[in-house]
Amino acid sequence: MHGENTQLHAERPQPICRMVFYTFISSEGEISLLVVVVDVNPIWWGQHAQSEPEFTLSKCLDAVMVMGNAHMAMTRTNQLAVIAAHCQDSHFLYPSKRLKGNDDTSSSRDGKYELLSVTNNLIAEEIRDIMSKTELTGNSTDTLLAGSLAKALCYINRISKEVGVAQEIKSRILVIKAADDCALQYMNFMNVIFAAQKQNILIDACVLDSDSGLLQQACDITGGLYLKIPQKVALAQYLLWVFLPDSEQRSLLVLPPPAHVDYRAACFCHRTLIEIGYVCSVCLSIFCNFSPICTTCETAFKIQLPQMVKPKKKKPKLPA
Ligand SMILES: [Zn+2]
Ligand SMILES: [Zn+2]
Repeated sequence: MHGENTQLHAERPQPICRMVFYTFISSEGEISLLVVVVDVNPIWWGQHAQSEPEFTLSKCLDAVMVMGNAHMAMTRTNQLAVIAAHCQDSHFLYPSKRLKGNDDTSSSRDGKYELLSVTNNLIAEEIRDIMSKTELTGNSTDTLLAGSLAKALCYINRISKEVGVAQEIKSRILVIKAADDCALQYMNFMNVIFAAQKQNILIDACVLDSDSGLLQQACDITGGLYLKIPQKVALAQYLLWVFLPDSEQRSLLVLPPPAHVDYRAACFCHRTLIEIGYVCSVCLSIFCNFSPICTTCETAFKIQLPQMVKPKKKKPKLPA
C-alpha cells in the first residue's frame, strides 16, 4: 500500500511543488547569507521624487523588507544583512548595533513573526537616522557603492569565519542601484568584483534607472544576474521572482535574458570610458594616451623610437 502511494506520487507531474520541495532540500543544511546593498543617494531620490512621486525611497525600502523577510522566513538558517550606500558613508541598516540594549523593538503586537518585525523596525529606524544626518556638500554627490560592496564582502568573510569550517555557507550580494555610475570608483570597484569572484560570491544587480557598466561587469564576472527593471513600482515583484531564488534554484526558472555587457574600461588619466587604449605592462593601468612613464607605477618604458639614419660619409674612392 505504501509502495503504491509513492509510485503514484512520483508519476504525477507537479512542477510548482517540485520547485518548493527543491528549495527546502537545497538550503536545509547550509547557511545562505544574503547581503542587500541599497543605493540611498539623497540627491537621486530627491530628484526622482519630483518626477515619479509614486515610487519613493520608503517604497523601495518596503520592497527590500518584503524580500528580506521572505528570505529569512524560507529557512531557519537563512541570514540577512542590509547596507545603505549613501554619498557620505556606507551604513549597516541590519544587523545594527541597536539590537543590543533596545528591547522595545522586539515586541510584535500583531502576531507577526518576531524576527521579521524586529528586522523591519531596525531597518526603518536606521534609515531615518541616516537621512536626518545627511549633510550635503558640493563635492560629494556620488554613491559610495564600491565601499559598500567592500563592506559587504568583509561582513560575509566575518560570518563565514564565525560559523567555522564545519558549516557550509553560501553568500551573495544584491545591489539595488539608483544613481549613475561613478568612473572615479572604477579601480576600487574592479578590485571588489575580483575579490568576490575569488570567494565565489555572486553579485546580483537590480538597476532602477540608467544602465550601469560597472555592475554589468560585476554580474557577468561573478555569475550573478543583472536586470534593469522596466517598472520601478513593481520592484517588490522583481525582487521576489528574480532575485530571491539562489543560483541553484534559478536554473529551474525562466528568467529575463542576460543583458549586453559594456566591457569598456575607464582610463586612469581622465576617468573616461574607452574601447582602445594603452595598458601598462607592469601594473595594468589603462591610459587613453601614450606616455613614456606610467603615472601609476612610474615605470619608464624603453621605446624604440624611429632611429635617425645618419647618412654615411662616403669615403673618397682612392684611385686604383
Ligand atoms: Zn585618459
Ligand atoms: Zn604602471
